[in-house]
Amino acid sequence: MRKRKKILVVEDNEKNRILMRYVLEYGGYTVLEAKDGAEGVDAARRERPDLIFMDVQMPVMDGVTALAMLRSDPETKDIKVVALTSFTMKGDRERIIAAGFDDYLSKPVNTRRLPELVRRLLFDETQHAKTA
Ligand code: MN
Repeated sequence: MRKRKKILVVEDNEKNRILMRYVLEYGGYTVLEAKDGAEGVDAARRERPDLIFMDVQMPVMDGVTALAMLRSDPETKDIKVVALTSFTMKGDRERIIAAGFDDYLSKPVNTRRLPELVRRLLFDETQHAKTA
């Protein structure tokens, strides 16, 4: 049996954390939560998740700063990190990818797209390379 993949959700919005946990646990993943970027970096170092969803706008430490910290640490630099963003302007996707995120998911989160995105990032490298 395949080991359960661990997903860390870093998000200050509680409703969104609850929604993501619900969908991801239903998909068979182990879900960890953090409420801001600093907590998220600590949790990533401690738990070594397979994938991280990182809100961009958060108190204490924003998602872009937290991502930079993860990328600068050899222990966490290879973890896939997906930005959670409500940005909808043209060019936002490019900016998010330029910051070093592997992909992004717009809010409000599309609960049908979420499992698909997770599968692609965790299990299908070629498909990911094509769209990132
Ligand atoms: Mn936020």
